[in-house]
Amino acid sequence: MLTPISGPYLVPFESHHISEDMATAPPEDAPGKKGCKKGLAEEIDQLDDLQRRLYAEDRRALLLVFQAMDAAGKDSTIRAVMTGVNPSGCQVYSFKQPSKEELDHDFLWRTTRCLPERGRIGVFNRSYYEETLVVRVHPEYLQNQRIDIPDNLEDLWRQRFEAIRQQEKHLAANGTVIVKFWLNVSRDEQRKRFLSRLEDPQKYWKFSAADVAERQHWDAYMHAYREMLAATSRPWAPWYAVPADDKPFMRWQVAKLIRKTLERMDPQYPDSPASGEHLAQIRKRLKRE
Ligand code: ATP
Ligand code: MG
Repeated sequence: MLTPISGPYLVPFESHHISEDMATAPPEDAPGKKGCKKGLAEEIDQLDDLQRRLYAEDRRALLLVFQAMDAAGKDSTIRAVMTGVNPSGCQVYSFKQPSKEELDHDFLWRTTRCLPERGRIGVFNRSYYEETLVVRVHPEYLQNQRIDIPDNLEDLWRQRFEAIRQQEKHLAANGTVIVKFWLNVSRDEQRKRFLSRLEDPQKYWKFSAADVAERQHWDAYMHAYREMLAATSRPWAPWYAVPADDKPFMRWQVAKLIRKTLERMDPQYPDSPASGEHLAQIRKRLKRE
């Protein structure tokens, strides 16, 4: 199993209490916008080469899970970080309200079908974790799932965490390296971003009244996130809580963590099945044609 990348954003394993004031802003000594953008570009350069090696090796997959409150910048981070990577080696899936077909299955079914193949990088924009976040904040959604609901709902979240830990452990033991990002935006920064969507006609399309309504449940979401981080940050599937109030800084940090993970995986080009001598003969023959 791959050892996670330690650092300030790695969520501790087996921790019962996750701090209420995890950083949403970059540290004071962080470089400015220009420095972050330069850092991101350097990471992306390296990601391209590492992804080629992962693809050629064709033995392991990398799964990147993104969770965040609305307007934290999931989409733009995924776009910014994966831009340099060959699209055929990378699969991005977004998970929204489950469809009728999805509700006819267990809660891990729809994401399991989208897991990355060996050699690929899979990106989950939201994931099965919504089943312990939005559904926990709105337990009435459980009615659509037609499952037995325990009298004490806490038992249900415990069961789900257990199922997720088992599933992730199974995947890790079978060649999928899992890295999870919680893009941690502050409530005030979210307010500013919603306001800017209302003030710029080019951003109107991004505005959703439902997102603003969801803000009222901020504390319930933060509680659900902390419980989720404590229950599911494990060495085989670590969570990184990345400050999200400054987008250039966040994108750079995410890219860096992905690059470091891939470097630690150290994918290798496979040996050619043919011997050097055999290849030399083929080369000669092709030249003669
Ligand atoms: P964007 O708004 O940036 O396009 P998004 O991920 O917010 O992206 P939306 O269509 O706005 O996409 O929202 C998806 C919604 O689906 C979110 O509110 C999320 O909580 C909800 N959702 C995701 N998974 C589930 C689930 N399993 N059960 C219920 N709701 C879910
Ligand atoms: Mg949305």
